[in-house]
Amino acid sequence: MTFNTDAVVLKIVKTGESDRLITFLTKDRGILKAFAKAADRPKNKLHMSSNLFCLGNFTFYEGSGALRVTECDLEETFYSLRNDIKKLALAQYFNELIIEAAPAESPAEDFLRLYLNTVYFLSENKKDIKVLKPLFELRLISIAGYMPNLVACAGCGEFETETMYFDFYDGELYCENCKKTGAYPYSLEVISAMRHIVFSPLEKLFTLKASPDALESLNEATEKYIKIKLQKSFKTLDFYNSIKD
Ligand SMILES: [Zn+2]
Repeated sequence: MTFNTDAVVLKIVKTGESDRLITFLTKDRGILKAFAKAADRPKNKLHMSSNLFCLGNFTFYEGSGALRVTECDLEETFYSLRNDIKKLALAQYFNELIIEAAPAESPAEDFLRLYLNTVYFLSENKKDIKVLKPLFELRLISIAGYMPNLVACAGCGEFETETMYFDFYDGELYCENCKKTGAYPYSLEVISAMRHIVFSPLEKLFTLKASPDALESLNEATEKYIKIKLQKSFKTLDFYNSIKD
């Protein structure tokens, strides 16, 4: 049995003599692992299209054994990511994160759209890397089922006070009067940026702007929230953070 779906290559493990075991994010079936037979050979038809970040319409064969990828109509390679170590490291972190957060074996179009938009802005230099990182992290974790409750103070319903307090464990926001022990203080600018990331439609998502100070706090907050919700740390993130600007 064969099926086709739009997919992007997130991870490759070489196996056997010249095979690749590929982890995909697919539109119709979420995260999938499939073998690309002999794809490591330069003359193989999947050699070019089974590389990291390659986007295309892939054909999969589902037999009695493991899933196999057999064809690809390649659309985009995001090749320019490879010209900048910082961007490449960030994109690899996005890959590791999405493998963890996206569903397996069920439709994942919203994950794929978020990923492709973010990686496009990253590879084409269309948006500051310091905006893209927290934006991708918070939006991803929200669509993965951990959307923080940023509508208003969880205690009294107040929409905004000059400083607001975010609790990373319950994902709730508190005003100055209701502030909870252990909740972190954030300026309204940071809270507004978080609200933008969580609530904007995709076509407005990438218009996010914030001051350097707010972006720094936002970045710390989204990293911490991801770590707590997924209960995992990411090697690709450590590597990204180790690279100097
Ligand atoms: Zn309150």
